[in-house]
Amino acid sequence: MEKYRPDIYRKNIYQIHYEDLQKEGIKCLLFDLDNTIIPYNKKQVSNELKDLFHQLKELKFKLIVMSNSSKKRLLKIKEQLKVPIIYRAMKPFKMNFKRVMAQYKYEENQMAIIGDQLLTDIKGGNKVGITTILVDPLIAKDGLFTRINRHRERKIFEKMGIHGLLFKGRYYE
Ligand SMILES: [Mg+2]
Repeated sequence: MEKYRPDIYRKNIYQIHYEDLQKEGIKCLLFDLDNTIIPYNKKQVSNELKDLFHQLKELKFKLIVMSNSSKKRLLKIKEQLKVPIIYRAMKPFKMNFKRVMAQYKYEENQMAIIGDQLLTDIKGGNKVGITTILVDPLIAKDGLFTRINRHRERKIFEKMGIHGLLFKGRYYE
């Protein structure tokens, strides 16, 4: 169960204490796309998100949007947010996390992944040993593949609850 447990759990990306992450030595933030920074069925990013990314850039974080979604969808996001993207990232597999480390020369303890799914974002981040931050999905609806994962995710949440490891809606840092 430990492989699914996030280091940090917050309601959404606006509730994360980024300055604390910075103090811990985190320099690179990998953001999941669908239902983490925008609803999976939207293409336009919000001004609130643009503002957040602007602030994080000011804090000198390296921001990368890393998603299992399509190139087409990610290119639209890149245009709007002006950050590097990784599409079809195949989370939870390690390769694209490793690619970022090699390309930008970051160590495990300098990176964090922020995402809404235990089976892709959190599991993948834990596998490579970076900081993992879970947020609640922005909307209750999901794409097809995610719907399958959510079914398994519910079971994992139940099990983790039994072991006192993670409870839906009980946020921690
Ligand atoms: Mg997602």
